[in-house]
Amino acid sequence: MNNDVVALPAPPEVLQIEVGLLQNFCEILYCPDTGEAAVVDPAWEVDRLLREAEKLRVRINKVLVTHTHHDHIEGVGELVAATGAEVFVHPNEAAVFDGPTTAVADRQNIAIGRRGLRALATFGHTVGGTCFIADGYIVTGDVLFVGGCGRTDFPGGNTAALWASLQRLAALPEEIRVYPGHNYGPTPTSTMGRELLENPYLRCQTFDDFRQLRERKRKP
Ligand SMILES: [Zn+2]
Ligand SMILES: [Zn+2]
Repeated sequence: MNNDVVALPAPPEVLQIEVGLLQNFCEILYCPDTGEAAVVDPAWEVDRLLREAEKLRVRINKVLVTHTHHDHIEGVGELVAATGAEVFVHPNEAAVFDGPTTAVADRQNIAIGRRGLRALATFGHTVGGTCFIADGYIVTGDVLFVGGCGRTDFPGGNTAALWASLQRLAALPEEIRVYPGHNYGPTPTSTMGRELLENPYLRCQTFDDFRQLRERKRKP
């Protein structure tokens, strides 16, 4: 059994919201029993995220950071000021924040009310990139997009590390739904099974093929 998915807690409900000017996706993950919620990557339109949480009748008390590029964290301060939420981020990137943060480790479970998910350290796009996997879906930040993957030519990018991260995701069950960090593909979400068939970066058979493809295409 794949240790990344073994004994996952019951999954939070998920609301995907497209925000901002760069087709970013933000997710509200919540427990319908307790009304506790986490927001992934609040960077844009924090007032709208707060309204969506209100509509769901949930209380945001956690922020989960996939990585610290500005288009994923610009709204963290504002959201924390409004909610008092605890910010979860990998220690490799925590220095970006002025306020207190909570370190996430690889395969650490994070509770959201009576539901929960698990952090997966998936570096390569950045030095502390983290995916969050629940029973049935995964939030992939800029590691994996529908039909694409993250760039490795920003500071801290590492093509070999991204390849290793994508190989790890490729080993997940095929029915796992993928919630990417941007709306760059033909559909807002996908499944690992579909990505294995259609995503050119996951179809690469060797690291060399992957490196050449990744370095040929600078976008996204
Ligand atoms: Zn990024
Ligand atoms: Zn991004």
